Amino acid sequence: YEMSGRISLSVNQLTEEKQKLLDAIDRLRELEQQQKQFIGNISHELKTPLTSILAYADLLEMYRDDPALLEEARGQISQEAQRLYRLVEKALQLSSMDIYEFETHAEHVNLMPILQEAAARLEAKAEQSGITLQTSLSEGKVWADPENLMHMILNLLDNAIKYNRPGGTVTLANEADRDSQGHDRMVIKVSDTGIGISDEARERIFDPFYTVSSDRSRVHGGTGLGLSLVRNLAEKQHGYVDVAETSPNGSTFVVTLPMERPQSQKVHSVEESS
Ligand code: ADP
Repeated sequence: YEMSGRISLSVNQLTEEKQKLLDAIDRLRELEQQQKQFIGNISHELKTPLTSILAYADLLEMYRDDPALLEEARGQISQEAQRLYRLVEKALQLSSMDIYEFETHAEHVNLMPILQEAAARLEAKAEQSGITLQTSLSEGKVWADPENLMHMILNLLDNAIKYNRPGGTVTLANEADRDSQGHDRMVIKVSDTGIGISDEARERIFDPFYTVSSDRSRVHGGTGLGLSLVRNLAEKQHGYVDVAETSPNGSTFVVTLPMERPQSQKVHSVEESS
């Protein structure tokens, strides 16, 4: 009896192990597919600036005796090379998160100093663009990886400056509240007085490589990777990011993060609780 009991237990275990293996294979297939798609997208994106650089490099020879044209070509090469650099940098960040199980080193951190530093880092950029950067911060701790968090806020502030109007304002604020299931969470808001986001675009701005108006984004050296990176980071930290409001007079991006170490459930977005 004991013997057969033991055998049936191990058969159960075998079935379980087999299912785990099958699940792992499915997951690997899925990852492989994502990886192929990612490489396809990135290769396409890298080709555009490279084509410009090659074209201007050829023109340098023709422009040899014309300092103004030479300067223009140099400027274009430099601008496109910077775009390439940003693309590669963001692609590396994204790929390391998607392909390997990206590790976040979450801890109980004070939010205010991180937000203050993020704002300070972009102060000069805002000023150069004629934008007022203001903060409305309150004390509180979140359960997050400080480096990832900094990265997310910098990305959102950078967009709020880039897609603003001259003379506009960017506001960084935070406030503690509770989600529909009673979990304490921190809500961080980045608002701008910019061009707003259409309903159609709203669904897609978090997709990798998506940019609303390629012209405007290109002027700013956009890669369409920033927001997908932010969403990825937020979700890895049991949080969420979304556009809370948008109108022709500006948009508000909202990040929610748990204040305590999560049991594993996701913190719900602001809309879900109201
Ligand atoms: P990009 O590198 O183009 O800025 P993102 O992924 O950060 O890429 O953003 C995707 C697109 O979403 C941008 O090209 C822009 O059109 C739009 N977008 C992002 N933030 C804002 C904002 N604050 N206001 C209006 N549009 C925005």
